[in-house]
Amino acid sequence: MKDPLATQLCLKCQGGRKSMHSATLMTWLGDDLITVPNFPAWVCDICGDRTYDAHALAQLSMLLNPDAGTPIQTPLAIQKKNRPANAPPPA
Ligand SMILES: [Zn+2]
Repeated sequence: MKDPLATQLCLKCQGGRKSMHSATLMTWLGDDLITVPNFPAWVCDICGDRTYDAHALAQLSMLLNPDAGTPIQTPLAIQKKNRPANAPPPA
């Protein structure tokens, strides 16, 4: 038997095993996209699904700010929502 900490079963394809690799994490820090090279991630050997190491993410978000550390799921968007209400009120 292998060390259970060395691999994780993949929940996505149900058949693969995830092992620790170095990946580049991309996340938003405020309005800035930052990349963190050599970030620990679990990568499935079958479907390639990648999960960033939760402990490392927690450390990163403490280092940066509470909003950081969320991996990008969708390309762009969201963010620009709250604009100052500069439309004149209905008279
Ligand atoms: Zn998988």
